[in-house]
Amino acid sequence: MMRSRARYPSYMADLWQCPKCGRRFARAGQKHVCQRVTVEEHLDGRPRRVVALFRAFERLVAACGPFFHDPIKAQIGFQGTARIFAGVRLQDNGLAGYLDLARRVDDSRFTRVGPYTKHLFVHHFRITSPDQLDDRFAAYVRAAYAVGNGARFGGTA
Ligand SMILES: [Zn+2]
Repeated sequence: MMRSRARYPSYMADLWQCPKCGRRFARAGQKHVCQRVTVEEHLDGRPRRVVALFRAFERLVAACGPFFHDPIKAQIGFQGTARIFAGVRLQDNGLAGYLDLARRVDDSRFTRVGPYTKHLFVHHFRITSPDQLDDRFAAYVRAAYAVGNGARFGGTA
């Protein structure tokens, strides 16, 4: 299924793609939440300012390089060649999401930080205002993007 119309480098097209839901994974046959959901469905009916926050977050990811949207019911995932490195949910008053980072970071935007693996920490965030998506947050997104593309990983996680 061609869910995504974006252009990707060929190495990204080499990811295994589930024939049922269209989600892509580094490992063929990987177990996953098999759902067909679109980004548009996530945005539908949300306040305009929250959609604008989502687009601003998305621009920070896009500034890092190519990626896949990986929407499931629970979130819109952002995926690199190695793994999903971020996820966002639109709420009535802002974004709730997470970034996977290779080290713990203290920042008031992170409401909760937990170890995911020995080398990976899930940083849950809340964003309610565009000025929270500043240069510092952009640096966190870049670090997560690097994780999504295999930084400090053997390729599978
Ligand atoms: Zn599937």
